Amino acid sequence: MTSPPSSSPDVHPLQRKLAILADAAKYDASCASSGTTKRDSRGGQGMGSTEGSGICHSYAPDGRCISLLKILMTNFCQYDCLYCVNRVSSNVPRARFSVQEVVELTLDFYRRNCIEGLFLSSGIIQNPDYTMEQVVEVARCLREDHDFRGYIHLKTIPDASPELLRRAGRYADRLSINIELPTDAGLATLAPEKDGLAIRRSMARLRVHIDDAKGASAEQKATPLRSLPATNARRAEAPRFAPAGQSTQMIVGADAADDGAILATSATLYGAYRLRRVYYSAFSPIPDASAGLPLAAPPLIREHRLYQADWLMRFYGFAHDEIIRPDAQGRSLLALDVDPKTAWALAHRERFPVDLNRAPREMLLRVPGLGVKAVERLLAARRVRRLRAADLSRLHVPLGRVLPFVLTEDHRPTRQMEAMPVPRKPVQTQASLF
Ligand code: SF4
Repeated sequence: MTSPPSSSPDVHPLQRKLAILADAAKYDASCASSGTTKRDSRGGQGMGSTEGSGICHSYAPDGRCISLLKILMTNFCQYDCLYCVNRVSSNVPRARFSVQEVVELTLDFYRRNCIEGLFLSSGIIQNPDYTMEQVVEVARCLREDHDFRGYIHLKTIPDASPELLRRAGRYADRLSINIELPTDAGLATLAPEKDGLAIRRSMARLRVHIDDAKGASAEQKATPLRSLPATNARRAEAPRFAPAGQSTQMIVGADAADDGAILATSATLYGAYRLRRVYYSAFSPIPDASAGLPLAAPPLIREHRLYQADWLMRFYGFAHDEIIRPDAQGRSLLALDVDPKTAWALAHRERFPVDLNRAPREMLLRVPGLGVKAVERLLAARRVRRLRAADLSRLHVPLGRVLPFVLTEDHRPTRQMEAMPVPRKPVQTQASLF
């Protein structure tokens, strides 16, 4: 039996709203549930858990798995961001949930074991504070009225008042503010009502709250508990603020920003605002799109290469401007035919081969095919013996990738690395309209 379309009069109004507002939220990629504190309802208290199978996924029209459980309070929006399907000038069906409806839907799906948490965002109605109040009230009601212990990720509105941001952090595991585009110029062209400065100011506020809460929690744990005889001393709860930190999303390929600009912005976000994650979302052409947008999506491999480069910055000690250098035309684009770490190695052949028995950790991390765990194991192993090629086999690293770049007791690459082709220049055509 097939279900009737959501526009059919046979469909319950709440179901129709859910179809519209879940669909409208699917373009947001910034909702992974990692990194928060562990909570559960074992022992009969509360409802939900932040562990277990994670939050449900949904799929973008192009087949990418980009979303976890996510809905909008409303897809009415008074802003007109050109890349957004929910913009005021977009001709899409609209709907709006009440606070109570979102709370009941979340609890209902939770009880049926369909979801592990809530990702809630919203179009902007009336004004940023009014919208943010609705979003915060959902989280408050779930936590305080229903003792909900599952994961909550709230998308915050940068222009909302500092007090509302503070309240959001008290209930949410993670907060995010989408930076949307890597440059202020891109924002001014495609989302003129958004203010890059206000976005960064709100991120800075969140950072201060998150740091304060972490500091208070660490201080409390370091303070010994003292109790009077015959009493059970209990620690007071440390103030809580978004324990899973803050994240953001950048749209890739909607404007002319190159990969160098995108990575430079990410480096600033990680450094200055301590973001937990920057998500990259390849621009999806939307129905009824503005003439100011590219007609085609960028190649998905570009998004993948940006994630790899992002990983290099966060875990492998690479600076954003060494991963990628401008070409003769001044454009900084990641190679699409080879991962960024291999591309860096091939562009710096004079630094290889790396002697696995002597090189410092920083250099081992730059060897293509060696991950952080493999490097830690190699460092531990070489304290007690000279490393041989067989040690790499035991670590299950991709030998074909690693061996051309390393020296071991019994292995010296011949001319393998010299024979490797220089990565081809990327063919990225999404900016041809600009
Ligand atoms: S403010 Fe958000 S929901 Fe509204 S048009 Fe812009 S991106 Fe879309």
